[in-house]
Amino acid sequence: MNMDVLTQQSTQQKGHAAGANWRNPGAHRSQADTDRLMNQLIELKKKRNAVILSHNYQEGALQDGADFVGDSLGLARSAQETDAEVILFCGVHFMAETAAMICPDKTVLIPNMAAGCSLADMVTAKNIRDWKKKFPDGVVVCYINTSAAVKAECDYCVTSTNGIKVIEQIPKDKDILFVPDFYLGSYLKAKTKRKIHVWKGYCPAHQAILPENIDRLIDDHPEAEFLMHPECGCTTKQMHLADKVLSTEGMVQYVGKSDAKEFIVATETGILHRMQKFYPDKSFYAASEQATCHHMKQNTLENTVLSLLNMQYEVKVDPALAKRAIKPIERMLEIV
Ligand code: SF4
Repeated sequence: MNMDVLTQQSTQQKGHAAGANWRNPGAHRSQADTDRLMNQLIELKKKRNAVILSHNYQEGALQDGADFVGDSLGLARSAQETDAEVILFCGVHFMAETAAMICPDKTVLIPNMAAGCSLADMVTAKNIRDWKKKFPDGVVVCYINTSAAVKAECDYCVTSTNGIKVIEQIPKDKDILFVPDFYLGSYLKAKTKRKIHVWKGYCPAHQAILPENIDRLIDDHPEAEFLMHPECGCTTKQMHLADKVLSTEGMVQYVGKSDAKEFIVATETGILHRMQKFYPDKSFYAASEQATCHHMKQNTLENTVLSLLNMQYEVKVDPALAKRAIKPIERMLEIV
C-alpha cells in the first residue's frame, strides 16, 4: 500500500489545530491523491469486511467513499441492518457510541476520537438527575446528540426527523424535560403544544446562522425555497419565513420532490455536497459559510484510511451502561 499520501496526515492534523482550512479538509488534496486514497479505502474495506457510514456533514470525499450517507437516524438504522463485521463511522463520537450499543457484536471505529459534539457536551448525567428531582413524574426526552451516560438517564431518544412523532406518544398529562438543544426543544414545544421544559444547550455551528444571513439571501434569491434545520439558532425568529423545517435527510428528500430550482439551506454546509451531487440542475445557497462543524471536520479521507489500516479508534460502551442507554433508543426505533 502506498503510504505517501497518508504521511501528509500528521501535517494536515497540525494545520487543523492551528486553524488552517479546517472547514474544508480536502482543500489541500490533488485529484490524484484523492483517487489513490479512495482505492486504498476500497481495498481495506474488503479486507476488513467493513461498512463505511458517513454523516451528511462530512467532507465530500468521505461521503463519496461511504456505503451509506445520512443523518443520525439513517446511520443508526444502517448500523442496525449491516452484516459487516466492522462499522467505520465517519461522524462524531455519540453517533459511533450509538452504533456500538445497537451492534454490541461488531467492531465500531471512528477515524478521530477528537470528533466530539459541543451540543452533546452541554448536558451531563448529573444535570439530568438533578433536574428530575424537580419533576419526579416528568418524562425525559433526549436528542440523539447526547452521550451514552446521558441517554442512560432518559426515557425517550429523538432525532430531528422524528421528534414530533415520539413526543405525541407520551401521555398528555406528563411534563416533558427535553435535553440538550434549546432550539429543537422550542420547535417541538411550538409544534406539539406540549408542556416541554427545555435545556439551554445549542450547537455552535447552527448558531452561526444569523437572521440577517437569511434576510439577505431571501432578498438576493426571491424564487428560492428556504429550508431550515430545527437546531438553527435563528429558528425562533425566522421560523415563520421557512418553507420547511426539516432534518438533513428530510431536506435531501424534499429537494427531490420540489419543483423549485433554488434553495437556501440553513444547516451545516457539508450537506450541500450531497444536494449538489443528487440534483446538479438545482442551485443551493448555504445560509452561512460559517455554519461548519469543527468536530465533523476532524475526520478526513486520510485518517479514515488509517482507521481501517490500523483498526483505530475503537468506540466501546460499558455493557452495564449500554443496557440502560439503549432503552430510549429502542423506544424511538419502535415508534418510527
Ligand atoms: S453540527 Fe453541532 S450538533 Fe452536529 S455534531 Fe457538530 S457541534 Fe454537534
